Amino acid sequence: MAQILDGKALAGKIQEELRDRIQTVQPDIGRPPGLAVLMVGDNPASAAYVRNKERSCERVGIASFGQHLPADSSFETLSGIIQDLNQDDRVDGILVQLPLPGDLDSVALLHQIAPEKDADGLHPVNLGHLVRGEEGLRSCTPAGVMRLLAEYNIDPAGKKAVIVGRSILVGKPVTLMLLEANATVTIAHSRTPDLAAVTREADILIPAVGRPGLITADMVKPGAVVVDVGINRVEKPEGGSRLVGDVDFDNVKDVTSYITPVPGGVGPMTVAMLLHNTVWSYCQRRS
Ligand code: NAD
Repeated sequence: MAQILDGKALAGKIQEELRDRIQTVQPDIGRPPGLAVLMVGDNPASAAYVRNKERSCERVGIASFGQHLPADSSFETLSGIIQDLNQDDRVDGILVQLPLPGDLDSVALLHQIAPEKDADGLHPVNLGHLVRGEEGLRSCTPAGVMRLLAEYNIDPAGKKAVIVGRSILVGKPVTLMLLEANATVTIAHSRTPDLAAVTREADILIPAVGRPGLITADMVKPGAVVVDVGINRVEKPEGGSRLVGDVDFDNVKDVTSYITPVPGGVGPMTVAMLLHNTVWSYCQRRS
């Protein structure tokens, strides 16, 4: 029977550590850390994520400078707001909640964020630091995956890791982090033939696709560690809906040594790493 990698509990512990850290350094800096989450339009899932981020900020003592803008906001308006936040000394982290409505260019907007305030760690400068193995802001979801492995003393060194999904948000950065941690890494994706043959090789399997039930028990090596990044909303037979990952949890859990639940695995870790990044920038800006 697998041990659960409890992201919710670890995220709570990280938030407590951050709250203590803020209380220690705040008298020196003379203000709390600040995070600005920009939300455009009314996507209900995004609104829930933003609320959750702001509540978590409040819990640890990070001031929120978020703005909620109408769906028809222009690129120039958003760019102007980001420029103002870049200059605002009360703000240590800025992020644009994705997806953006209409044809707003999210990549071009991301490039407008000052790299030292890039709380999501997705700016090319920060991704470049990751490629080079230099210090910098790390993408939150992949950093959350690595922190979860570390908490349970799962050392990737010498292990075979398989990532399913090659996005710039998850698949590519987590690959680089696992390489840095001395794993042997394979990335599978939508054009990989015989996915099962690849996933069955994994000591550490990280699906990040967005397809419920993609990873079944026969695709997992006995004793593997499975970290499920996928988040999918599925209809329940009795009505309503629930969140599931990419892994057929009920059957896969019996094959693995460790597994993350969805919800309660990588999701809360992503928020914890966002707060961590904001506090890291705050402490960097101390002098
Ligand atoms: P994406 O759509 O950008 O990328 C999906 C990847 O999956 C692509 O690289 C594609 O090649 C691959 N893929 C698609 N179909 C496949 C198949 N049949 N077999 C193998 N690979 C396939 O998605 P993303 O932004 O990387 O997100 C992936 C999932 O992770 C989504 O469910 C998303 O909601 C979730 N997510 C969760 C968190 C979190 O905090 N837990 C954070 C970010 C994303």
